[in-house]
This record gives sequence, C-alpha cells and structure tokens, in this order.
Amino acid sequence: APAYDVMRVRGDFPILGTRMNGRPLVYLDTAASAQKPRVVIETLKRFYEEDYANIHRGVYDLSQRATSAHDEARRKVQRFLNAADWREIVFTRNATEAINLVAASFARGRLEPGDEILVTEMEHHANIVPWQLVAAETGARIVPAPITDAGELILESFIERIGPRTKMIGVVWVSNVLGTVNPVHELVRIAHGRGVPILIDAAQAVQHIPVDVQALDADFLVFSGHKLYGPSGVGVLHAKAKHLEAMPPYQGGGDMIETVSFKGSTWNEIPFKFEAGTPDIAGIVALGAAIDYVEGLGLDAIAAHEAEMLAYATRAINQVPGVRVIGTAPEKCSVLTFAMDGVHPQDIATMLDLDGIAVRTGHHCAMPLHERFGLAASARASIGLYTTQEDIDAFVRSLHRVAEMFR
Ligand code: PMP
Repeated sequence: APAYDVMRVRGDFPILGTRMNGRPLVYLDTAASAQKPRVVIETLKRFYEEDYANIHRGVYDLSQRATSAHDEARRKVQRFLNAADWREIVFTRNATEAINLVAASFARGRLEPGDEILVTEMEHHANIVPWQLVAAETGARIVPAPITDAGELILESFIERIGPRTKMIGVVWVSNVLGTVNPVHELVRIAHGRGVPILIDAAQAVQHIPVDVQALDADFLVFSGHKLYGPSGVGVLHAKAKHLEAMPPYQGGGDMIETVSFKGSTWNEIPFKFEAGTPDIAGIVALGAAIDYVEGLGLDAIAAHEAEMLAYATRAINQVPGVRVIGTAPEKCSVLTFAMDGVHPQDIATMLDLDGIAVRTGHHCAMPLHERFGLAASARASIGLYTTQEDIDAFVRSLHRVAEMFR
C-alpha cells in the first residue's frame, strides 16, 4: 500500500488552508469536532441543490431520490459498524441524544429504588447525566468505577462493582480527556457474564478504531457524525434489534407511528419507531460521504498515522518545562491533555490562539474526571487524520514561549 500522504489528505480540507489571527490555522481540536473534507461539504451542497425533499412521504420522483439517498446512508453506517441489520441503526442528533434515548426508553423501565448504573470515572458528561436523570426518577443510583493515576480503568474494581442491583453499564471506548482505550470487548464479556446490558460510548472511537458491533456484542453503541468528519447534527445509535423491538418510543410525532387516533396510536417498525419528525436528511446523506471518505483512506492507515503523531507530540511536550500530561495509559489514542505549573489553561489557550493554534481548555465535559486528578481545568491538543508534525512543532514551540513568559 502507498504511504499515508498527509499533505494530500490536508488538501481535501478547505478550512486547513485558512488563517487564524493572521497565522496559518493549526487545528488541534479534532476531538471536540473534526473538520470536514470537501466531499462532505460538496455532498451537502449537491443534495440541497439537486435532490432535496422530505423523505418517506412523497410519491414524486424527487422525494423518492431523497429517500433512497437517506436509506443508502443508513446502509453505509450499517456496513461501517458491521451491524447485522440496517434496522439496528437509529439516527439521532448526536451521541448525547442516543444515550438519552437508551436511558429513557431502555433503562428507565428496568430501574427500581436502590438499583445501580455502573459507569467509570472517565466518562464524558453525556454518559453520566442521562443516567442521573433516570436514576432521579426511579430512585436508582450511579456507581463510578475508579481509574489509576495513569488513567486506566481498574478492572478488578469494575468487576467488584457489578452486583445484583446493577441494571445497566455505560463505558466510554476512548476517553476524550485521557485518550485511554478501554478494553471494551472484555468489558462486554464481563457485563454479559453477569447478565447486565452494556452501552459503549464510541464517540471518540469510530474515527480511530475499526468497529465491528457483532464481534463487540454490546447492547448499545453510540457515536456522533461530526467527530467522524461528517456534518454536525447527526448521531447514531446502534442497538440490538431485540432491544429496539421491546423498547417504548423515546419521542412521539410524525414518522414514528403506524396509526394514530384519539383513542391511541400504534408504532412504526424499527428503527423508524425511534425517529420522530423530520431528520437532518442532508446531514445523514453527508455522513454517508464522510464514511466513504474515511474508509477510502483506511482506518488502519489513519490509526497508524495518528499513533505516530501522538507519540511525536508526547515526546515533544514532555520537554516543555512544567508540563504534566494527564493520561499516560499505554493503550492510548488521539488526545494529549495537559496542565502546566502556575499557568491557567485558559491563558495557555489564549496565547496559542494568537499563534493561530486551536486547542481546547476547560473541563472537556468531564468534571468528575478532572476532580479525580485534582484539577479544575486542563488544556487538550487532539490529533486527527490531517494532523502533521508541523502542526505539533508549532504547538510545542508556542508552549515553550508560554512556559518562558510565566516563569
Ligand atoms: N462521549 C464522548 C467520549 C465525547 O468525547 C463526546 C463529545 N465531546 C460525547 C460523548 C458527546 O458527543 P456529542 O456532543 O456530539 O453528543
């Protein structure tokens, strides 16, 4: 296979040729949201210009074309995840909505006072708060499984916390703060060994690691299209068909019904039962284009490139005085979170911004995790399929200047 040509790849991303604060843009916030290749932008544009209509309604040709483009995107997601059945793919707004759907429609009905939902200390708020909402309604509680100082899940503690009251487990595949890659295949086996359903938050995984939901066998897996180089506004829930068949609707409205009368209504087939109202039709079609794009480059090639960039960035940042990297698990990908002695993360990001460098600061929607590391906030550089050594050199050069200024 030809070597991964990152400069050619960069040429596919119009925004990477722009400037920020008069400097060439160095975009190191891909974990928050990925930039979009031209083919995704063009697909949106072309769909609106040539094929747009509402779906599943019209007999007219245009609506049928829109419907088949939308349906084809669902098949692409199915193939991308190696799902057994296209009916197991539910489109949502984002990963967050997908988890809320599972919490409200699947978990709520199974929870009684004193029941437990097991998560980990490294979860994004999206995999904590939806469970808290249903826990508050039902009298259940959230149990966090602890992690090490390196940012690894402590497997024995995780297992210990699965008890007779554990009714649901939610685990992140790749931490958006630590970069830790959790052993999700093993966690699913453990959960199922105890008869507990498990949801995998793959929001930071699908863009780095090939996913086979049949091999993984989780009950639920969620991700957001916008982190997979697709447009914002589209998320995916993969759920086993038997669960979707048994679950009550999450939202009511058009498209999710079979019949409606004032005496009562009946529900559409899955997955439509969970897709009330007009979806982000163009966004879904463009997510299909994003999947084609990523598959065209090859996830293995992308992962190899990103691993090289992460190793390079880690070596370089460790040379900056006063920097402490948060998340040093051996199984790690794509993100480099750090704190700097005596410098507020906000000041780091502000200084980097002046140099045209985009990094994220704050708690990254993981406040319990920051508490675990005794931090209120941190800074995070994250790597994508278009990240270069030059990006990292510029970033680390700026960090050295920050370190000097604040010393
Ligand atoms: N889980 C993880 C691990 C994430 O990184 C994110 C996005 N920061 C989410 C869930 C939520 O994704 P979204 O905001 O697209 O719903």
